[in-house]
Amino acid sequence: MIFLKSESEIEKMRTAAQLVSKTLAEVAKEIKPGVETGKLDRIAEDFIVKHSARPAFKGYGGGQNPFPATLCISVNDEVVHGIPGSRKLTEGDIVSVDCGVEKDGYFGDHAYTFMVGDVSEDDKRLLKTTLESLYKGIEQTVHGNKIGDIGSAIQKHCEKRGYGVVRDLVGHGIGKNMHEDPSVPNYGRPGRGERLRTGMTLAIEPMITRGSWKVKTLSDGWTIVTADGSNAAHFEHDVVVREGEAEILSTFDYITEITKNEILETQ
Ligand code: MG
Ligand code: MG
Repeated sequence: MIFLKSESEIEKMRTAAQLVSKTLAEVAKEIKPGVETGKLDRIAEDFIVKHSARPAFKGYGGGQNPFPATLCISVNDEVVHGIPGSRKLTEGDIVSVDCGVEKDGYFGDHAYTFMVGDVSEDDKRLLKTTLESLYKGIEQTVHGNKIGDIGSAIQKHCEKRGYGVVRDLVGHGIGKNMHEDPSVPNYGRPGRGERLRTGMTLAIEPMITRGSWKVKTLSDGWTIVTADGSNAAHFEHDVVVREGEAEILSTFDYITEITKNEILETQ
């Protein structure tokens, strides 16, 4: 079931999304060679709690193996859902940091892939292409289009440049729940799938690899890695479907103020 949001609900979602944006910027300040990923997680959790919100990933899934942390930190060939801990970042790593919060009953969920120091030209191209594909998808997120238009735009942009588009994980509706209908695949055919309507709110999140699209789950039950060991990138925004042009609720501006990263300042 797809929930259309009122303007007052969208305002609450903007507050939640912007809190994630600011949390990612706090993390950005500490991303450097030698930092433990567990330290980044503590910084994020403290910041979220201080702003009267709840880290939405912590405890996610419930049952025997709930997600144990505030951030998903996924390094190099880890695509998503990496668990922060004692691992230290090293020069040349690429690091996806994904964060979710619940504030006043509404969720924000977005992600950015950082460069640790100097990274290879091949990885820079991967990050740039993945970020561009996110905005190609958002361009299609307008009233009257179909879900397939979003995925098709992302897929074409990435596959034309030789990258793999992960199939097993997809974007999603978001609102009073972190994951709502509809699913938003990063692949698809134009004109296919659910019709987009004003007031739908979607988390769009291309997960793109330098090799094959195939992935596997590590024995921790969470971390998703590429099956062929190639590096992967992940960017995510929370978006409202509107007439003519989508509205992006989250922002990378706070991050880029910190990173001063010209390669990833395409938007
Ligand atoms: Mg998401
Ligand atoms: Mg996310």
